Order: sequence, then C-alpha cells, then structure tokens
Amino acid sequence: AEEDAAADEATGSARLGIEASKDKDFAKWYRQVILRSEMLDNYSVSGCYILRPTSYFVWEEIQKFLDAGIRAMGVRNCYFPMFVAERDLNKEKDHIEGFAPEVAWVTRAGSSEMAAPIAIRPTSETVMYPYYANWIRSWRDLPLRLNQWNSVVRWEFKNPQPFLRTREFLWQEGHCAYLTRDEAWRETLDILALYRRVYEELLAVPVVEGVKSEKEKFAGGVATTTVEGFIPATGRGIQAGTSHYLGQNFSKMFDIVVEDPDPTKPKIHAHQTSWGLSTRAIGVMVMTHSDDKGLLLPPRVAETQVIIVPSGLGSKNTPEEHKRVADTCLAVEARLRRVGVRAASDLRDGYTPGFKFSHWELRGVPLRLEIGPRDLEKQSVLSVRRDTFEKAPLPLDGLETAVELMLHRIQDELLIRARATMKDRIKTVMCWDDFVPTLNRKCIAQIPWCEREECEEQIKARSTRDALQDEPEDEKEPSMGAKSLCLPLQQPQDHPIVPGQTKCIQCGQDAKRYALFGRSY
Ligand code: AMP
Repeated sequence: AEEDAAADEATGSARLGIEASKDKDFAKWYRQVILRSEMLDNYSVSGCYILRPTSYFVWEEIQKFLDAGIRAMGVRNCYFPMFVAERDLNKEKDHIEGFAPEVAWVTRAGSSEMAAPIAIRPTSETVMYPYYANWIRSWRDLPLRLNQWNSVVRWEFKNPQPFLRTREFLWQEGHCAYLTRDEAWRETLDILALYRRVYEELLAVPVVEGVKSEKEKFAGGVATTTVEGFIPATGRGIQAGTSHYLGQNFSKMFDIVVEDPDPTKPKIHAHQTSWGLSTRAIGVMVMTHSDDKGLLLPPRVAETQVIIVPSGLGSKNTPEEHKRVADTCLAVEARLRRVGVRAASDLRDGYTPGFKFSHWELRGVPLRLEIGPRDLEKQSVLSVRRDTFEKAPLPLDGLETAVELMLHRIQDELLIRARATMKDRIKTVMCWDDFVPTLNRKCIAQIPWCEREECEEQIKARSTRDALQDEPEDEKEPSMGAKSLCLPLQQPQDHPIVPGQTKCIQCGQDAKRYALFGRSY
C-alpha cells in the first residue's frame, strides 16, 4: 500500500481512471478518487494538503450557504490574528489540557530565538475572549455574536486523512456571549440545525443530531452538540460539525462579566457558545457518494453541473455536420448558462467521446448531455446521469426546464439513498454479545447506556479485545474499539428507556438514554 501511495504521490493526478475498488480497498480508492479527480494534491509538509479548484468550489458553496444562515441569525464576521500568547492559551485549564499536545509553536524569528514562544491557534477561544472581556462592560453590550472564516492548526499525530483530519484546516468558528443560559443554549441548537442543513441540503449527506458524551465533549465546555456522519463503506462514524455550549467556564477565566440589569443582584458572567464546521465536510461527501468510476458531486456543489459532449461523429460525416453538432453544443451551453445552470462543452479535438465520458465521470460532473447528428434530426439530446448512469432523451425544446428538473432529482435522490443506507446500518443492540458483531458488519450500534465515563472506557477496551478475538487482525484496517458517537436528540420512540428498568448493555447499571457507539474516524 505504501508503494501505491508513493506512486500516486509521484504521478499525482496524471494517471487516468480509478483502479482501486471502494468495497475492497477503501483507503486506496479514496486516495485515487481525490487525487485523480483533481480535488486535492499532496503537499511537502506531512498532514497538509492542497485544495484544488474543484474542492475549493465546494468549500465556497458551503461558505455562501452557511454565511448567509449565520448572518440572518445576527452574527457578524470579523478576523482575529492566528497567534496566541502563552499566558492566554493557558488560562482555561481543561481547555489547554485538551489541546496542548497538538499546539504548534513559533520559537524562532529569522536566526534568533523568540524571547517568548508564540502559539498558533488550534481554535480561537483563548485568542478572542480577552478582548470580549474588554468590549463587554454592561449587559447592554450583550449579546456579542462574532464569527470568523479562517484556518487553524492542530498538529495531530493520528494518521492524517485528506479533508477528514489535516494539520491545517479551513473552517468557520462562531463565538457568542449572552446574558442568559437559555439564549446561549437556543443558539447552540439553532447552529446545529444549520449544520445539518449544510450536510443534507448541499452535500446530500445525512447526519444524526446529538450530544457528545462527557469523555468526547469539547475541552473546557459544558456540553457539545454534534452532527454525526456515517461512512457506509467502512462502517465508521465521523464527527461532522460541533456546536458547543461553553456555559460560564471561559467567562469566569477571562472575566467576561456584566452588571445584572437589576442593580440589587450580583454581577453575571456571560453564557457562551462556540461552533465550527470544517473542510472535513468535503471528505465526508466524497466518501458517501463517489464510486469506482471516481468522484460524484451533488449538483448544488458541482463547479460544472452539466458537461456537453459531441458524439456519434466520424470520418463519414461531412465538415458541415461536425460544425452543426459543435454549434449546437455551444448553443445548448449558452441556453443553460442563461438560466443559471453551470454548463460546459468539451469540444477538444483528438479525444474520443468515450475518453471524454470517463474524464468527466472521474471528475464527478452530475449530468452529461451527448449530442450527435442523429439527435439533431430528432431535435433532442441524450442525457446520462452520473449517479445511476440512466440515459434519457430530452427534447431541445424546453431543455432548460428538463435539465434543471433532472439536477434537482439527482440532488434529492442522492440524499434519499444515503439516508436509507444510514438508517439501515444503525442497529439497536440490546445485549453485549451482539455489540462487536454489529460493528463487524459495518454498522453503528444504538444501545441503552448509563452515560458513565468509566463505562465508555470499558466499552472501548472490551470491544477492541473482543474484535481481536473474533477475527484475525487485518493489517490494513486494524480492529479498533468503539467510542460513543453521540446521544441522539431524537431518541427511539418505539422502545423507550424505562427508568430503573432498562439497563446499560455493558455494565448493567440503569440506562439513561440511547447512545450511538461505533468505530470512528
Ligand atoms: P472542535 O473545535 O474540535 O469541536 O472541531 C470543530 C469541527 O472541526 C469538528 O466537528 C470537526 O468536524 C472539524 N475538525 C476537527 N479536527 C479537524 C481536523 N484535524 N481536520 C479537519 N477537520 C477537523
């Protein structure tokens, strides 16, 4: 596998097509898809990657959607520096304990050592909050609601994964301060709902909204809410976006404090939220929809939504016929562009239609239109969907509407299919003996759980051990223990937890809620 990786790295996207199979060698398949579709390239600093235009376009669509959503809620954009002074970084104890191992430091400028090393932000709570303390003097200064679009650096030592886990990544981070707990909680959940819409409406990826366990929550926060994704091909869960209720932990450490509107009452520490969604989303989308032909982009985030390819022409056709076909391709492209469809024609000489079909399939273009002399006679074009490879003739008359409809249908059906798969692979498990076998079938286990941290650690240890016993360890994908993904906000209705009666399947103590457990990224 390492040789393959090296070969891929050396040749990058120069090679055509995908040889690896999504089912048989997922890691290799993923690498080939993102490199050869020209989404991403490797970089000379390990754990960092180049986002090429195809993937950056997806990110820009996410930005547009999310930015409009948070502005509508009243959040304003700003920009803080990427450097943090050590004393600020260390102010909140749990927070720094959580992040310390991954913080990158600047220790030298030119040839001289810095008097005091400066950290690069792994997230910006400690960058921003000293200034929140300056700006927030009275309850009239609340709420303060800011967001920034930036990159952060976390020097992770877990295996880097393009998009999913990188050492520098792009994201937005929102940071708000409120007078009351209720307002802060309401925003935490409103943002979560917005993150869900980014995944479902733009990327056609289903997610489960939930709350993280104590062990998995954000360092320094009171509670972390999350949208959890699922990668069917590996059966693993993935944290797809998080919205934290920070409570008053940070406001106490950073002195973000105001007079109570009622002057007879004591001062109030602000209630805070922070929330982030990163370029990880692009990786989750690729892993969900793409196939052995390459990338598959949902129409809403595809830079090219429709590729128009001349076909059915040969040496038997006259130059006039060739020209008529090419002119029709360009005319169709212009008509589609006029109604806002991102269309392009591939009129390159010297390439066969078959070559062009594969070229655009690899790059994930959701819809292809083929136009040849026979189509012109019938005053129609042949449409081919990237997701199902279904072919359908579309009359030239009214083509714009038909294409728009088809793009909508592709977008909707991608989500419907992914949702059906996810639903099918979340299994309610009511006894420990079924737990590891469920994970081994690439499923997520929904279990009655006591919510104790110690129990979560035991689940991880026991599931690692049991998995090792059950199956010889696969070198490529070592059996790993399960961790809690979330406590879903929507608890199962059909078999609710009965307090005092339903037991945790691991330790036998009283179960509080159902939790999703799984192997994860
Ligand atoms: P956090 O601040 O840890 O809650 O992270 C916010 C979001 O950023 C998470 O929900 C992840 O989806 C994403 N994220 C965290 N670490 C990385 C990473 N190393 N690379 C890409 N995305 C990340």
